[in-house]
Amino acid sequence: MSRYWSPVVAGLSPYVPGEQPKMANLVKLNTNENPFGPSPKVLAALRDACDDALRLYPDPGSDRLRQTIARHFGVSLPQVFVGNGSDEVLAIAFQALLNHDAPLRFPDITYSFYPVYCGLYGVRYETVPLTSDFRIDVEDYLPAAGTAGGPILFPNPNAPTGRALSRAEIERIVAGNPDAVVVIDEAYVDFGAESAVPLVARYDNLLVIQTLSKSRSLAGLRLGFAIGSTALIEGLERVKNSFNSYPVDRLAAIGAAAAIEDTAYFEFTRSAVMQTRDALTAALREMRFEVLPSAANFVFVRHPARDAAALAAALRERGIIVRHFSHPRIAQFLRISIGTAAECDTLVHALRTILA
Ligand SMILES: *Cc1c(COP(=O)(O)O)cnc(C)c1O
Repeated sequence: MSRYWSPVVAGLSPYVPGEQPKMANLVKLNTNENPFGPSPKVLAALRDACDDALRLYPDPGSDRLRQTIARHFGVSLPQVFVGNGSDEVLAIAFQALLNHDAPLRFPDITYSFYPVYCGLYGVRYETVPLTSDFRIDVEDYLPAAGTAGGPILFPNPNAPTGRALSRAEIERIVAGNPDAVVVIDEAYVDFGAESAVPLVARYDNLLVIQTLSKSRSLAGLRLGFAIGSTALIEGLERVKNSFNSYPVDRLAAIGAAAAIEDTAYFEFTRSAVMQTRDALTAALREMRFEVLPSAANFVFVRHPARDAAALAAALRERGIIVRHFSHPRIAQFLRISIGTAAECDTLVHALRTILA
């Protein structure tokens, strides 16, 4: 606390990211990074780009990268927005699109950055409880006839549950709220869910946000993007150009474009992660864990007889880090990121020992 802080700073409750421990040799299954490195083509493109051009500002519009994304997703350039990680894209969407008189709606159990942005930008919000089996119920997001609800935001698949809605279910929510913006955060969509991007052509109230941090192994490069109608994207551009003209640096733009273009490597790594997830799910169920059906690169699990915080502590003693959240509804769950097959074996053996 300092008397020099502005009043809003004193009232913030900042997001606490998963730990990035400095120790070597840890099995790090706590922040949903990809166990594979980035595509070799990304690394080559980044090395090539390390030259004198770094003295120059990057293209403020990141046009080449946006063109690559537009081509890949079958949309036009003015339907694509890029930013320094999808967290930044989300932050800009909060200011540009989600701050209205009617409160923003998102699930009670979801990405814990959302209420933090509400605090920072003064966005009013209401949480909508997940069902008892931790699903998003489409009906809960359909306003009663003749009424308009506020904007809607959730990840699909949801985090930290991993449960996904189908594209048809997303469409019911988007079509049922024509007077409100619906933002779908698709950070994990490539691990087994259906993207809502094809709906953008038909719904001008839909914004889809994706990131290169998870399925393209580039959490360290910081690149996220949004796809939506040109009017929604223009709203994001207006905020971006009032805040930071160059959020995407030269190297990030080049590496990200190479990642989007290497579809073969993307397909190979994401299917390997999904296979490992399914094997880990089976092994955990054998140990009596309840494992929510996951379409993401993590599983959300609880044991009927063991306290989750105690399990996390016992794993930590064995050099394995998983994520535990203190929210009362999920305090008995652990979120375990999908590592390499070898890392998941190490986890399974450690759990067998701990449970024995
Ligand atoms: C990881 C994550 C993000 C943030 O990704 P970055 O692009 O690395 O900022 C956004 N939303 C959800 C739900 C995530 O899990």
